[in-house]
Amino acid sequence: MKSDARVVVIGGGVVGASVLYHLTRAGWKDVLLIERGELTCGSTWHAAGGMHTLNGDPNVARLQQYTINLYKELERISGQSCGLHMPGGIMLAGTRERFDWLKMAKARGRYLGMELELISAEEAARVFPIIDKKYFVGALLDPIEGHVDPYGVTHAYAKAAQIGGAEIVRHNRVIDLKPRADGSWDVITEAGNVHAEHVVNAGGLWAREVGRMVGLELPVLAMQHQYLITDDLPELKDQKELLTCIDFEGEIYTRQERGGVLLGTYERAGVPWSPVTTPWDFIQSLLPEDLERIAPSLEVGFRHFPTLAEAGIRKVVNGPFTFAPDGNPLVGPIRGLRNFWVACGVMAGFSQGGGVGLTLSQWMVEGDPGADVWGMDVARYGDWATLAYTNAKVRENYSRRFRIRFPNEELPAARPLRTTPVYERLQAAHAVFGDYCGLEHPLWFAPSAEEAQEEVTFHRSNAHPHVGEECRAVQEAVGLLEISNYGKFEVTGAGTEEWLSYVMANRVPKAGRIALTPMLNGRGKLIGDFTMCRVGAERVFLICTWAAEVYYRRWFERHPPPAGVTVRPCATEYVGLSVAGPHSRALLQGLTRTDLSSAAFPFLSFRAVDIGMVPALVGRISFTGELGYEIWVTSEYQRALYDLLVSAGRSYGLRLFGGRALNTLRIEKSFGTWAREYRPIYGPHEAGLGRFVDFGKGEFVGRAAALEEKESGGTLRLVTFSVDAEDADAIGDEPIWHEGRVVGWVTSGAYGHRVQRSLALGYIPAALGSATEGFEIEIIGERRRARRESVTLLDPSGSRMRA
Ligand SMILES: Cc1cc2nc3c(=O)[nH]c(=O)nc-3n(C[C@H](O)[C@H](O)[C@H](O)COP(=O)(O)OP(=O)(O)OC[C@H]3O[C@@H](n4cnc5c(N)ncnc54)[C@H](O)[C@@H]3O)c2cc1C
Repeated sequence: MKSDARVVVIGGGVVGASVLYHLTRAGWKDVLLIERGELTCGSTWHAAGGMHTLNGDPNVARLQQYTINLYKELERISGQSCGLHMPGGIMLAGTRERFDWLKMAKARGRYLGMELELISAEEAARVFPIIDKKYFVGALLDPIEGHVDPYGVTHAYAKAAQIGGAEIVRHNRVIDLKPRADGSWDVITEAGNVHAEHVVNAGGLWAREVGRMVGLELPVLAMQHQYLITDDLPELKDQKELLTCIDFEGEIYTRQERGGVLLGTYERAGVPWSPVTTPWDFIQSLLPEDLERIAPSLEVGFRHFPTLAEAGIRKVVNGPFTFAPDGNPLVGPIRGLRNFWVACGVMAGFSQGGGVGLTLSQWMVEGDPGADVWGMDVARYGDWATLAYTNAKVRENYSRRFRIRFPNEELPAARPLRTTPVYERLQAAHAVFGDYCGLEHPLWFAPSAEEAQEEVTFHRSNAHPHVGEECRAVQEAVGLLEISNYGKFEVTGAGTEEWLSYVMANRVPKAGRIALTPMLNGRGKLIGDFTMCRVGAERVFLICTWAAEVYYRRWFERHPPPAGVTVRPCATEYVGLSVAGPHSRALLQGLTRTDLSSAAFPFLSFRAVDIGMVPALVGRISFTGELGYEIWVTSEYQRALYDLLVSAGRSYGLRLFGGRALNTLRIEKSFGTWAREYRPIYGPHEAGLGRFVDFGKGEFVGRAAALEEKESGGTLRLVTFSVDAEDADAIGDEPIWHEGRVVGWVTSGAYGHRVQRSLALGYIPAALGSATEGFEIEIIGERRRARRESVTLLDPSGSRMRA
């Protein structure tokens, strides 16, 4: 084994092997993979090898497409067969709702270039003859599905990597990792030490243990998973290979295995394996079979697939594999550690392994993943994702793997975890809560405790009329919203302005003022949107998306502030309440001696203001499009502030409102939000944020690329549509059609109660930017006429916010 390498990849499962191959392909040849047993000896060797292109996140779906399309190339380079079978796949719907879900999946697939086809139950039985069609209402066909040989794929990656210059050492365990002052690592192994510039944790079942070597508790947990293989079935003899299949109602997947059928389940009573530490002596091992546990799924399966009920069982496999709390991989560099990368929690190694290897290698070599990988970025989890949290969420996710997640559905596991001081008061006001980074935040308010339950649906739910009333209160009187679920940073010290001016695209405001700003990466793409609130010469309060706090901190580590400037995350220290609506100023003015008139406290002001006895920081800013104020206090004051506002608000018709109303209010104003309209695949000009990029202030990250985008006009446009919807609005990820062609995709949608129409925001090609007619948006399988609005529908001049 060499003693120095540019990269050491720990783990020779399908993921580590893919990372190794992709690093060589990206031009880094001095790379070493260390595997403590044989390649594949973790969870890879006993996988069923199935692969699918569909994923709830279109960006992850794109990487799955990439993985599946890679296998032929890999076979060519390595000379190693991947055992590729591509019979195509069928997804069976047993209910109308599931069929609606498939219609939405098909629609999403349109702009990903997938050729998916919806078919009836009769047709399903024709192309997939082992089902009893009476249990199904229809199905979706996907020609790009199949299965591979896990051993073949892993060795193909390994051989291709070796051809590219990589070295692979087997039967050698990494036992410790020691950082050096220059950011490199001493990798301590059973067979001696290696000095490496970078380390990749692709430890699979042992990713947690490798993480602990550097003080990390990664949110991954292994679950036991079983499949069985039947004896050969006479029905399959001399027939074309069976389609791979997912039967959602049975929570079952199947594929042909030689002359029989492989059938696996994601049962509701899933069981974690080694919840705290993973034994090192588990090599190429399996767990005892437990058919009892999956009996309820098998019972349904045997009804749905009667042929299988008669067949003998040749083999049962029970093996563990790992999941992150949301079921997507954990990929990327770790905040707080230099040159330490992870590629773990990959629960679908044969659909995702290639995409994970590709993006991680680009991130390492180019400094940027080259794609929108937010859905699998390790930075989406923070300290709140503890071992016990992960355990609860992974078990929930596993048990729901084949269940529908409705767009308005909030999942119950690991809740409530984080609450703000006004939680009980909001509960008493019949709030229906959502979970955001483990924090309970109000979505809407029901008229009574009995009604504080939302029915889950793709259509408008029972919340619709109540959300409408909340919106009207904000429009006509005043609404009160808890806004604690934002990320916050406090930047202090001499040099604050210079540093912020370099990492943010807009000019830093003067003291007492607010400026909105995009944050760009080197490619000039959006990696954040911030509200910069300048309290004083050397103190700026940044408000941003909380879910991206770790992501931002990691970026700030790459562009560190100079000595003397401190960047302090303070999301939970400052909690907030916002008042919005035409009476909001009168309400607040009655509680403070500070002059809040427009002359003294104009739009985009930010100051320390005492509200009653409560010392607060108040910003005059509005995400609702109405006159509004955001009030930030340290958490011990939040209850007093709330009581004061609610009591004084009675005479102004104050009504509590929640996140659902806020979403429709901002869409009526065509205001975008992070992770929907603003993502690293869009430039500021495309996203309509061009006016917040100040090219006159000097150098800043992404300036050259943003200038180029401004001059060329970019390729996309974020636009607003009014949609002829009936009882279901767009929610995001629907295709946008123009004159019979899919030209774009929706990023957000909702019913706009103030403008009384259904709305959608989405991206279309810049070349279509001035067209207003000829558009359609596909909602639950129906193409709905849509009109592109050339001006913001609500108060285009912004006079209400500035009143
Ligand atoms: C029963 C079953 C069926 C499955 N079916 C499918 C399927 O149909 N399709 C699909 O896509 N996925 C399937 N999977 C999931 C699939 O197996 C995983 O997604 C995949 O194996 C993850 O690969 P990995 O490389 O991340 O992890 P692993 O395969 O666990 O690899 C990690 C490797 O790292 C090594 N390692 C760890 N720590 C160290 C150390 N300190 N020093 C040296 N080496 C170390 C381990 O020995 C191991 O070889 C299935 C899993 C199971 C259990």
